[in-house]
This record gives sequence, structure tokens and C-alpha cells, in this order.
Amino acid sequence: MNANRQTSAEPAPTGADFRDLTLDEVEQMVASVGERSYRARQILHWVHARGAESFDEMRDLPAALRNCLKQSFTIGHPVSSFVSRSSDGTRKLLVQLDDGEEIESVIIPTEKRVTLCMSSQVGCAMACEFCATARMGLHRNLTASEMLAQILAARHELAAGEELTNFVFMGMGEPLANYPRLVRTLTIMTSDWGMGISPRRITVSTVGLVPMMERLLSETPVNLAVSLHATTNELRDRLAPINQRYPLEVLLDACRKLPIKRRSRITFEYVMLAGVNDSLADARRLVKLVGPLRAKVNLIFYNPLARSPLRASSRAAVEAFQAILNNGNLTATIRESRGLDIAAACGQLYAEQHNPA
Ligand code: SAH
Repeated sequence: MNANRQTSAEPAPTGADFRDLTLDEVEQMVASVGERSYRARQILHWVHARGAESFDEMRDLPAALRNCLKQSFTIGHPVSSFVSRSSDGTRKLLVQLDDGEEIESVIIPTEKRVTLCMSSQVGCAMACEFCATARMGLHRNLTASEMLAQILAARHELAAGEELTNFVFMGMGEPLANYPRLVRTLTIMTSDWGMGISPRRITVSTVGLVPMMERLLSETPVNLAVSLHATTNELRDRLAPINQRYPLEVLLDACRKLPIKRRSRITFEYVMLAGVNDSLADARRLVKLVGPLRAKVNLIFYNPLARSPLRASSRAAVEAFQAILNNGNLTATIRESRGLDIAAACGQLYAEQHNPA
């Protein structure tokens, strides 16, 4: 059997974690050992639906097949080494990876949903000025099974009756810079042979890697959020340096042409920075820029970083900004900071380990 076979332009995972595999690959593997193809779904059902942690548990498989699986694969189970709990119910998980790296994921319960904020990379190469993860630089990409491990670790921490309802790739890293593994993860999350999660409940947030945004929406049905943060190239070049490669006009032109489903809209995220991007003139420019798109805006309170001159906008400034957007017929919501007391809020992930104050 060959688990490292290439499929549809995606590199296969390098590890031998069974959770990395897609149905195609498991079917090939099953065929290569002379088993019937329905066995593939049977094994995947054990892993993703029944939560099996070893092949020995799969009692309805022939012993020879179980042995063969055991020799080639492991079923990784995540160790969430540390959980911090915020007074607002937010929980931050530190998920340990096999090579000693660690990533953070955040469980955010609100009245109607329980959202899991997931990481896509260890660190990040995008160098956004206001983000703690950026200060780590990029250590490495996560594999699909490592991204999925965050869901398993989170489920383990849920209270009785609590269930994850929404999944956002807004944790550490730039998901579209880890594109093949992200798509593999999304495939496993949304397939009936995988986790069976509705793609409408999944949002991928990007700093604006234009070619990959286009690919993502043509290849998967998930929601897209774009981190905008500025209404001029001069400012965006500074706040999110990727803007030097894909400037605002290129980014917004691409957003205009994206194959957005009829009902859904692109979310633009906008971190509110006092005296930097929160003026009423900024709000009016934002209406002009994204008003014509099928878009909504999510205004985010800035969570301050150590040793940074940036400051959060006042609530009054955020509300005045929101009012201008709403008057311009642009839906804008204010994202309340959650988990601030445990450094689990937007942009704070992994701050304390790598940036001792
Ligand atoms: N790389 C992706 C996803 C990770 S960042 C992206 O850029 O979208 C997820 C969101 O958190 C982004 O909108 C980002 O701008 C925001 N964010 C980063 N640092 C922040 C901070 N210090 N305070 C508030 N939001 C922050």
C-alpha cells in the first residue's frame, strides 16, 4: 500500500496518521491488499464517527486487514496539554504536536453557538503589525490530522450537552498559505465518510492571498472572511505587508468576482486601531470600497500586544464607525472581545510563550 500517493494536485501527507487520509486513498489502500472497497468506508466510519483510537477496536474487520493497517498507520490522538478558562466561558487549548511544537485553539461559546477557532500553521509568515502570532515567524505548516486534532481536543473539553457548532480558521497562521492541507482538512471535515460537518458552518479567514482565495471558493463550499483593516494602500502596506503583493484594488477586484453563493456574503474583518484606521473618513472609504460587494463587515476590538504603540479604538469610536457603515447600507457587526483574560482573544494566540513580557 502507498499512503503517500498523490491525488488531484494535493501532496499526500508525509506522516502515517490514518486521520490524514481521504476516502480515495483508503479505497486504493484497501484494494491494494485485496480487500473489497466497502471496507474503506467502514474503517473511516470507525475513525471519524465512532472515534476509534486503535485498529484493534474495529472488530468487524478481518484480522488480516487490521494487522495490515496497524503496520502502516497510527491513529493519532491529540494531547491537549493545557487548558485555560476565561471568566466569559471561553477556553483556550494548547495542543501538543509530535515534534514538540504547540498550537492554540479556542472554544468560544455564545448564546446560540459554540465556535472553535482553529490554527492552520505553527506561527505565521504574514507579518501583520498588530498580531502576536506574527512575532513567532513561521515554524511550519500543520498537517490535516493536526488541524483535525484540534476538533478532537476541543470535544474532549466540552461540558455535557455542549457541542461544537461552528468552525473558524482564525487561529494561528494563514490558512491559505497551507492550501493543500487546508483543503484536505476541509474535505475530511465535510464529507459523509469523514466528520459530516456542514460547510456552511465553516469559515476560512485570510489576510488576502488572492490566487488561493479564488481556488478555495471554486473548490470548496465554505465561507470566506478577508482581513482588510485599512482603506488605503499606504496604511494596509504597513499593517498587513502582503498588501504590497496584492494591493487593495487587486484584492477587492478578486472579491467582486469570487463565486459567492447566492445566499452568502464575504465577511471583511477590520481591527479597530485608535487614530490609525478608525476615523469617520476611513468608515466612508470602507463603504465605497466594499459597499458594492456582497459583503458584511466585522469590526474587531484590537487586543493590544506588548511593546507595541498600537492602541484599541474606544467603544464610542467603534460605534460611530459602525453607524456610518450601517447608514451606507453596509451590514457591520462589532465582535466583542472574548477570552481576553486568558490571552485567547483575536491576535493573542501563542503570545505569552514566545514573547515573554
Ligand atoms: N491569517 C488569517 C487568520 C488568522 S488572524 C487572517 O489574517 O485572517 C484572524 C483574525 O484576527 C484576523 O482578522 C486578524 O486580523 C485578527 N487579529 C490579529 N491580531 C489581532 C489583535 N491583536 N487584535 C484583534 N484582532 C486581531
